[in-house]
Amino acid sequence: MTLLIGSANARVGFDDGLAILRDGGSAIDAVIATIRRVEANPDDHSVGYGGLPNLLGDVELDASLMDGRTLATGAVAALKNHQDAIDLARTVMDTLPHVLIVGDGARMLAAESGLPERNLLTPEAEAIWRARMADGAEGAYQRRMRELAARLSRDPERPLDAHGTVNVIARDREGNLASGVSTSGWAWKYPGRVGDSPIIGAGNYADNRWGAAACTGRGAMARRLRTAHSVVIATRFGLSPDDALTVAGQDLLALDAPYASDVNIVAIDRDGNHGAISKVPGKTCVFQREEMPSFVERKRRVMTAG
Ligand code: ASP
Repeated sequence: MTLLIGSANARVGFDDGLAILRDGGSAIDAVIATIRRVEANPDDHSVGYGGLPNLLGDVELDASLMDGRTLATGAVAALKNHQDAIDLARTVMDTLPHVLIVGDGARMLAAESGLPERNLLTPEAEAIWRARMADGAEGAYQRRMRELAARLSRDPERPLDAHGTVNVIARDREGNLASGVSTSGWAWKYPGRVGDSPIIGAGNYADNRWGAAACTGRGAMARRLRTAHSVVIATRFGLSPDDALTVAGQDLLALDAPYASDVNIVAIDRDGNHGAISKVPGKTCVFQREEMPSFVERKRRVMTAG
């Protein structure tokens, strides 16, 4: 079964990813092509160009990629001024004896690789950032970020709970799996904060022998439970993707997390059976097999306590 599955905002890149799979291309190329489109989409304020910035108003991107054939991986974090975080993750994977490059090093590597520089903060994203900082949204995360903002800030009015990420898993005609994740992370995050998206095992994992999984949502929770890897390992021990997601959901719901909020996971097994789950109702994912004329959007199951 040749397919793409991902978070709902991945839809803008599905034509590109599917074209590669239909040509007999690799899962890893399809994942990158899909995510590249999302990173370029100024209307998506959770990824790439147009992403919402950190406490200081700087957009910082995180991304990772994993090739299920070889378990090769590359990732970048806190990347500024370059929208092509997923391409840079591939550069790390293909050219360096490392797996994760952050901050100034990531920016240097992007420049060396000839990736274009760009101011990632669009006027629209800046307007959202400013307006919501001042609107008094409540919740543990918001209160804490407002305290931090008041201490750090170039502009002391602030926070809100705004976040998002794109993730995509592909299975190609040869049965190879690949997964990728790209994000601007949590808006108003502390500068240099890194979530689950570029951390292999937490927000992203793929192994041809068993399956693949990728997360969006509160990255700190997926990091503490190394959620993506735990789902893949559950498929290794015989659970279906749906059952593996149920168990991961139970672990997430049991976590003592003062800043808990949604976590969403998509997963497939090595044969392409797939599932998607969320901590909150109403969340969707997008899915397409190569023979389908367009993607379908599906409701995710909602996690239930164990
Ligand atoms: N998982 C991302 C992070 O923690 C954010 C998100 O997906 O909403 O950076």
